[in-house]
Amino acid sequence: MAFSCKKDNQTIYSFQYDLKDWIALKKEKNSDFTMSCCGDLATLKTSRLGTQFFAHKIRPNSSSCSTDGESDEHMDIKRLVMQELSENGWSVEVEKRGATPNGEEWIADIYAEKGKAKIAIEVQWSPQAFIETKRRQEKYAQSGVRCAWLLRSGSIKARNAIVGDYAYSTKDLPVFSIYKNNRQDGQTYMVYNVNKLKLDSYDPLEPIALELEDFIKSLVSSRIRFIKKYSPVRRLYLKIIKQNCWNRRCGGTTKVVTRMYFKEIVFGIEIEYLFQSEAIDDCDNQMVSMLNSQFAKAYNFVPLRRRYSKTVGGSYVANSCIHCDALMGKHFIGYYNDEDPSMVKTHCINIPNKGDLIEHGESFEFGKWVLIDN
Ligand SMILES: [Zn+2]
Ligand SMILES: [Zn+2]
Repeated sequence: MAFSCKKDNQTIYSFQYDLKDWIALKKEKNSDFTMSCCGDLATLKTSRLGTQFFAHKIRPNSSSCSTDGESDEHMDIKRLVMQELSENGWSVEVEKRGATPNGEEWIADIYAEKGKAKIAIEVQWSPQAFIETKRRQEKYAQSGVRCAWLLRSGSIKARNAIVGDYAYSTKDLPVFSIYKNNRQDGQTYMVYNVNKLKLDSYDPLEPIALELEDFIKSLVSSRIRFIKKYSPVRRLYLKIIKQNCWNRRCGGTTKVVTRMYFKEIVFGIEIEYLFQSEAIDDCDNQMVSMLNSQFAKAYNFVPLRRRYSKTVGGSYVANSCIHCDALMGKHFIGYYNDEDPSMVKTHCINIPNKGDLIEHGESFEFGKWVLIDN
């Protein structure tokens, strides 16, 4: 089975003909149709699902010839992919042979170029181990070809691209599931493992399914992008309140830092979890000097420092009165500062994310494929 052949020494593609022209082509008696693989005579065929293709007129001898043993659906999917690529301005080649700089060979189901971009789309019909997919992907990467995988799923539940090892989703291996519900008439091929951003929630992604053609169009126009779940930075801000100095000889009011508050960046979206804050008492020196340099002057508080407290019988990082430098005890700072009318939130700064919140089986590389609307 092939999607291209030579017509009088010129390459033609079966998916570029509509049915009427395809039938007319079949009737052309004066043209010579030969297979691209070996130059033997070719015949024009149409599958039960309407896929147009070329086959050897006589069973080929060479094992390097394209075989006729693919299922109708497999062919149908490849045809739809090629058609969509072609309509979007890509020059498409089927079963393109190439090699890595080290001479390792590959054959791409569907290969396409547009400008400097080189892509491959593999339609994987029989189950393929994750490790094998990764190995084949590396060959494409070494050859400067960006490859995406469409793994066939037998049922709507067993979506291969999302379960097992494939669940560890990273940017270097774009893997999607393709599924068609044959029990219902008029169903189209749907592609899974794409998500949509929803901005109003602690869980910013929602899985969606796209029709095959829509998926291909979105993929090659960079509307499906990989977004890492975790960011190398977190956001930090402070809440600051006004207090009266306890020192009777002073009696002034001064600003004190209550706690540090954090926002996580998940799939590129800032999320503030409830109660995600930390006291300043145990801050290390590095954090203390960062808080002082980023906020003390701008928000007019005395730089924080580790001080001895008689009340506690030990030392901790504390606020001090701006007038008399008295230690402003941590016991006088409430937890729910939002109710304090003098409360001010500072701007946010970036601090390194040490990865404490990374979930089991994930890493900084982990992420998801997201459809960008615009
Ligand atoms: Zn051949
Ligand atoms: Zn004071």
